Amino acid sequence: MAQQHEWLDDVGSNTYADQLAVGFRRLRFSAPLESEYLDFVRDDRFELQRTALIGAIVLWCAFAAVDQLLIHSQERWWMLAVRALVLVFLLVCAFLLVQRKYTQLLNPLSIACISALGLGASAVIAIAHRVDPHYPYEGLLLVCMAGYFLVGLRLSEAIISPLLMLSGYLLFELMVGISTPLLLNNLLFLLFGNLIGIVGCYLLEYKSREHFLISRLMRVLADHDSLTGLHNRRSFNRQLERLWRLAQREDVSLAMLICDIDHFKLYNDRYGHQGGDAVLQQVGQLLAGAGRRPLDMSVRLGGEEFAVLLYDISPGEAHQRAEQLRAALEHLRIAHAGSETAGVVTLSIGVACLQPAQGGALGQLYEQADKALYQAKSQGRNRVVS
Ligand code: GH3
Ligand code: MG
Ligand code: MG
Repeated sequence: MAQQHEWLDDVGSNTYADQLAVGFRRLRFSAPLESEYLDFVRDDRFELQRTALIGAIVLWCAFAAVDQLLIHSQERWWMLAVRALVLVFLLVCAFLLVQRKYTQLLNPLSIACISALGLGASAVIAIAHRVDPHYPYEGLLLVCMAGYFLVGLRLSEAIISPLLMLSGYLLFELMVGISTPLLLNNLLFLLFGNLIGIVGCYLLEYKSREHFLISRLMRVLADHDSLTGLHNRRSFNRQLERLWRLAQREDVSLAMLICDIDHFKLYNDRYGHQGGDAVLQQVGQLLAGAGRRPLDMSVRLGGEEFAVLLYDISPGEAHQRAEQLRAALEHLRIAHAGSETAGVVTLSIGVACLQPAQGGALGQLYEQADKALYQAKSQGRNRVVS
């Protein structure tokens, strides 16, 4: 595992990367991630489960016809009765599944269908064995394999039906009195078949979980800046459009703070590029704490330019928050001997606050904040202009 994901060393800490690093051999993630994964697979397997159920109904009817060809004594009617009972159950489940409103029942229904198929098939086989001990029992393995591989169940769910089926099969065969060597032979074959199914299902789920973590991690990496860990411009644009629409609907205001480090080129020239990177990280940490509420967002727009989006905030409060940020960086007292403004690293911030419901375009928010930043720079830097 550690060898497989060596590249994680270059990725900052986040829930997906951390879970990949510690592994998940027991097919279980940490609590919040586990429920996110369950939602992900639930959405993923609805069509699969529906198709599998239709296939199962068709096959079940076909096997009922084969029974009538193989068994000619009165046992065939008992077999037909069991087949009919299971068929009715499958049809009821199919009816519930087709209506998408019972999504929370999807897994229990799938498990119930496979269990009904397994137990029904066990009963049919045991009845047939009363008159023909060589009536094929291998069909049971088909039911188990469908549960492991076709329905998209997790291993912990997929294993329930085979356990029920094997117990049922053993019980039914003991009731009809099949010969012990034949019963042992059949049980052993079924057990080994299931063993293969379990290993396959484990590997499938392991890969599905790995795919989930890696795809989510890729999304995080695509939306965040690698140096500061803040959101990047792409993620910012998406959030800005979303918040703009939301603010329009809820008739609240939206504020944007554009922050630019003063004389950063001079800082790089004096302290080197790596020293500059360290400052960018410190400013990133400071800004990360500025977007406190769930809808707020702090971003690195590029270079030494950052932005903070604040949802549902008055112009006065937005200005105050910008001022707090500016003062906080100044108080860090990061030496900047080349700065013509102060002996330390400072920020200039432009603030704009708009109420989208009162007209205006989304682009105006950025334009106004940028204009305010330009004024802050021209008025001497290390200041906030709204
Ligand atoms: P002003 O006060 O007017 O904002 O001046 P400034 O020097 O900060 O602005 P300018 O746009 O002239 O320079 C920005 C500098 O930021 C230039 C570039 O070398 C530096 N920079 C951009 N991205 C990075 C980065 O990722 N790491 C480091 N260390 N420096 C960067
Ligand atoms: Mg600058
Ligand atoms: Mg700049």
